[in-house]
Amino acid sequence: MRAVMSRKIWLDGSIVDESEAKISVFDHGILYGDGIFEGIRFYEGRVFRLTEHIERLFLSAKAILLKLPWTVEEVCEYTLDTIRANGLKDGYIRLVITRGVGDLGLNPYLCEVPSMFIIASGITLYPDELYENGLEVVTCSTRRPTPASLSPQVKSLNYLNNVMAKVEALKAGAKEGLMLNEQGYVAECTGDNVFIVKNGEVITPPVSDGSLDGITRQVIFDLCGELGISIREASLTRYDIYTADESFLTGTAAETIPMVMLDEREIGNGRPGELSLKLIDAFRKLVRSEGTAF
Ligand code: PMP
Repeated sequence: MRAVMSRKIWLDGSIVDESEAKISVFDHGILYGDGIFEGIRFYEGRVFRLTEHIERLFLSAKAILLKLPWTVEEVCEYTLDTIRANGLKDGYIRLVITRGVGDLGLNPYLCEVPSMFIIASGITLYPDELYENGLEVVTCSTRRPTPASLSPQVKSLNYLNNVMAKVEALKAGAKEGLMLNEQGYVAECTGDNVFIVKNGEVITPPVSDGSLDGITRQVIFDLCGELGISIREASLTRYDIYTADESFLTGTAAETIPMVMLDEREIGNGRPGELSLKLIDAFRKLVRSEGTAF
């Protein structure tokens, strides 16, 4: 790991040095992946869509019967405190809430108090070159779990399925992996939502096909509205991506990045498309012009 300046971590009400930020081995977040998280970006002194992220966090908590002793406003404030404590202007927040310390055994009711920690750090998911030239993606054999098991809307600490899909992609020499649902429809990538452009129209799968309801995904709907670009949801198969004019991915960490190749087939002419680049540009302007100041 690259040496970085010691970070200040918000942990259960205090800001501590990262060397002191420790949680128990009996925490059910560690023992069972019983917990939730959010990834949030801040740009030039402002946090992008902070309330939306924290509200999604609270929905994840509600869905897994995790009663939180904080309000949305308090969690927003703790997030801002963490950024200030690290003296950063640009970066990424990882906010994690675990079920808390209990005994061995799945029973979540044995855990009396949830634990929360907030990390503020730098992040570079992909090199600049890929934003200019686009990503090559492969389809993973690991499927997105069906909503009949854990809903893909819950941003839970169980990311092993996505980690295994990411490993498949990396082993195939690609930086990202496309995940299908049980029926074979496109769900999303391992950490990003997927969009195509066909005949001037932007299309993305409905979240009911197995994707997270991404905050960046919503930003693309907003930007298309503002720019007068037609956008709609429709179930997609790989055929639709192979034959699309353009494609791009969205996520808090990845931002908006063109996808130019899927399974060694060029998408469009194999270069980032015009509409994708327009949206990427609008996205970059937006994240630097709105947000919660700290
Ligand atoms: N899908 C998955 C599985 C994710 O983990 C994420 C977040 N990294 C996304 C999509 C994108 O969501 P957002 O735009 O809210 O970051």
